[in-house]
Amino acid sequence: MGQIYDITPFTQLDFPGELACIVWFSGCNLRCAYCHNPDIVLKRGDKEADEVVSFLQTRQGKLTGVVFSGGEATFCPALPDLARQAKAMGFKTKLDTNGSNFDAVRDLVEEGSLDSVALDYKCPPHLAEKLIGTARFNEPFRQTLDYLIAASRIGKVLFETRTTVAFDYMAEDDIAQIIEDLGARGYQGIYWLQNVVASGEKTLGNIPAPGRSLDRSRLPEPKGFKLGFRNFAEALR
Ligand code: SF4
Repeated sequence: MGQIYDITPFTQLDFPGELACIVWFSGCNLRCAYCHNPDIVLKRGDKEADEVVSFLQTRQGKLTGVVFSGGEATFCPALPDLARQAKAMGFKTKLDTNGSNFDAVRDLVEEGSLDSVALDYKCPPHLAEKLIGTARFNEPFRQTLDYLIAASRIGKVLFETRTTVAFDYMAEDDIAQIIEDLGARGYQGIYWLQNVVASGEKTLGNIPAPGRSLDRSRLPEPKGFKLGFRNFAEALR
């Protein structure tokens, strides 16, 4: 695991406030049913870290940020050096992670290589086996979550967490459990609920498009943070 799959040269959507590129890392230790990047998860990439560095050199003064995404970027041995080099070139850096590799996330933040982290809060622990293929990472995920909450509260890193809502696997009661958990752990900022991107064969679990929207009235009021909603076409009740 751990090669570089591709580079998206420009995005205004994936790194709030920055004009960014995305470096996609191949390979992932999870198998989320709704994953819409099966090629990145199952196949190996053909790009080397040097190519990413060369690309970033051509974007100095044009882009302001770099997103490390995947797959699960933290399992790539080249990531720490790439993040350091991106920072040295003046880019802001953001990591998208599933939070299962606690040591790697902590080390990147502690050495100042990340400005921002987006953490997937996949599901309550009892759904992990069914939704993401294993319950093995429940504990390291919670270490990552607690660490990032503490680090963001002292201004060490910007941090957001989000859940992809896959109705075949979870319902409002499960999201309510996450909202309660985040409140108890002292999360601040916005907790994003994202509609699943599902189109049959393109997801790892071949799940269908969602048959309904989220019923917001069944969610509790968050304590100390806000709810945000992404990709829900229908108005939320
Ligand atoms: S959605 Fe799940 S399987 Fe797909 S890249 Fe993210 S963590 Fe891995």
